[in-house]
Amino acid sequence: MTSVTTAIQLVTREQAQNQRVTTCSSALAEDPWVIDREVQPTYGPGASMADPAPLSSPRQGELPEEYRLATDEELDLRILAAKATLGDRAVILGHFYQRDEVVQYADFIGDSYQLARAATEKTRAEAIIFCGVHFMAETADMLSRPEQAVILPNLAAGCSMADMADIDSVTDCWEDLAELFGTEPDDDGRVPVIPVTYMNSSAALKGFCGRNGGIVCTSSNAAAVLEWAFQRGQRVLFFPDQHLGRNTAKAMGVSVEQMPLWNPRKPLGGNEEATLQDSRVILWHGFCSVHKRFSVDQIDKARADFPGVRVIVHPECPMEVVDAADESGSTDYIRKAIEAAAPGTTFAVGTEINMVNRLASEHPEHTIFCLDPVICPCSTMYRIHPGYLAWVLEALVAGTVLNRITVAESVASPSRVALERMLAVQPRPVQP
Ligand code: SF4
Repeated sequence: MTSVTTAIQLVTREQAQNQRVTTCSSALAEDPWVIDREVQPTYGPGASMADPAPLSSPRQGELPEEYRLATDEELDLRILAAKATLGDRAVILGHFYQRDEVVQYADFIGDSYQLARAATEKTRAEAIIFCGVHFMAETADMLSRPEQAVILPNLAAGCSMADMADIDSVTDCWEDLAELFGTEPDDDGRVPVIPVTYMNSSAALKGFCGRNGGIVCTSSNAAAVLEWAFQRGQRVLFFPDQHLGRNTAKAMGVSVEQMPLWNPRKPLGGNEEATLQDSRVILWHGFCSVHKRFSVDQIDKARADFPGVRVIVHPECPMEVVDAADESGSTDYIRKAIEAAAPGTTFAVGTEINMVNRLASEHPEHTIFCLDPVICPCSTMYRIHPGYLAWVLEALVAGTVLNRITVAESVASPSRVALERMLAVQPRPVQP
């Protein structure tokens, strides 16, 4: 199957001639260093363009010319040579959503949590090159040995969802809630609010949860984590992804009315006091720009075009999309569901296109396609191009560590508390 990058280049040429085939931005066909030259931090062309990147977002200096001018073949030879020289001293991790041109060099491919675990298992590696986004590299740094360097090949590979909840806004919210509910436990020993952060958040927010009796969750274990939280608290403050929080709590029987949205730009998050008093889950106003593109109309069209199609979506999709799908689950769930299906199954999948196309290539016995007809990858992960990978690998060969991601121990220590609480929670068994 054609890689997403090649498809974008082809489609962009097509777009110039006829308007029928589309990507979410023709600028995706540009090399990422064109975007890295911009003075303002940006998430790059594509799904996240409407969400302004915070001024504090890390910026990537311009890639040296020799890597910008190198052909694909030259970069391939240079990456393979550097990898061979480094041997076990370096491990390359690739996220499911990473483009094929980069993932082909990964020693391990997985979701954010699997990659963080893989980082801890590669104890001989002095350098962990994380081909994902910033929060994932932070988690890998917190879980790896102190002498291991975690490297993000392009510092501008952030996550728009993670940036939607910053430590100052969450702290302000927490103080408002403490004023409203107090801090004393009820007769059953449950405190007024338990903070729960999705793995897709900054280390500062994981640390916040560790310090305040809270916990981290992933899309694989969110239900078990919410159960843990409800045993200890009267309600949950869930950030940054409203959709994962809402979809998970709804499946556990919490009514939508008891899940108010907290908009950090409004007093009391834009809520009445009584609404917050009745709440079970307070949802932060965050979302994934990639997954919010999926719609019920796309599902209706897939069902009309492919009778009997199995529609499977990620829980970062809006609630009405999850409700209209046949099933929803994490990237790992989607992968296992496809592996376990009888040959000849047709799947319409609602998650990032690099992953969907890779699954389609790996499973020629099925028909697999992305629900969204517009080619729109995770624009931040897309910032990692083989040129950046060659640059950091060759620097390592020369004894220089570039783009190291480090989390201060004052933040890492409480973050590990929240991560360890998550690890101690037994996930609910989910069979694809
Ligand atoms: S797919 Fe969405 S949540 Fe995942 S890294 Fe990209 S922007 Fe962030």
